[in-house]
Amino acid sequence: MPDAPLLALRGLDAFYGDFQALFGVSLAVAPGQVVAVIGANGAGKSTLLKTVAGLIAAPRRDAVVFDGEPVGGLPAHAMVGRGIALVPEGRRLFPSLSVEENLLIGGRTRRAGPWSLEAVYAFFPVLAERRHAPSTALSGGQQQMVAIGRALMSNPRLLLCDEISLGLAPVIVRDIYARLPALAAQGTAMVIVEQDVSQALAAADRVFCLREGRVVLEDAARALTREAVAAAYFGV
Ligand code: ATP
Repeated sequence: MPDAPLLALRGLDAFYGDFQALFGVSLAVAPGQVVAVIGANGAGKSTLLKTVAGLIAAPRRDAVVFDGEPVGGLPAHAMVGRGIALVPEGRRLFPSLSVEENLLIGGRTRRAGPWSLEAVYAFFPVLAERRHAPSTALSGGQQQMVAIGRALMSNPRLLLCDEISLGLAPVIVRDIYARLPALAAQGTAMVIVEQDVSQALAAADRVFCLREGRVVLEDAARALTREAVAAAYFGV
């Protein structure tokens, strides 16, 4: 029998006021699985992550099921407490705080688990060297490592990553992505939103393509062709 999903979205809708951004999105993520969500600008990728993270209220409790429990509409801190952590688009570090202070903020709501400051520094050694530097003094790639480390400090079972490659040089993107399989291997599931489709296909087990708030393609990453992705992405 396949693993029970860690996260299941069941007909998830999402709204900004009267504007509907997601329409009946269904998707499942197994423990340790990496799922990529791709799609053009405005397709609803960030909205999906924010709804799972509790930053946007899901209209129905049972539209978001985490570890068998309906959690849709719970606030963000409750989601973190259950093991869902978001690496937000644009990193959103606290500019006046040091690397270490930013990481500690991620650990304010903590589950039991392997992550600590020292574990984050072992995972991203360059951050140990810069631990007392203001976060603004870091390169973009290092700032992204802080954003990921901050999320890991809560000991998540599910890590939601929004556009971690944005604005970074390809070599840095490869370096960061090369570390993600180690997280999956220790059982952390991931949903990654990526504009860089090749990167998404390479990193993920399963891929979902959104267009105008709807899932228009779902498949194993290794089964997808560039043509199928392009057709779903652009609706041609
Ligand atoms: P991008 O790659 O540009 O971030 P995305 O796929 O993540 O795109 P979303 O940011 O989820 O897309 O946006 C989905 C839709 O919701 C878009 O039509 C967008 O204009 C709209 N939207 C997003 N945020 C808001 C908001 N705060 N208020 C109103 N509409 C919003």
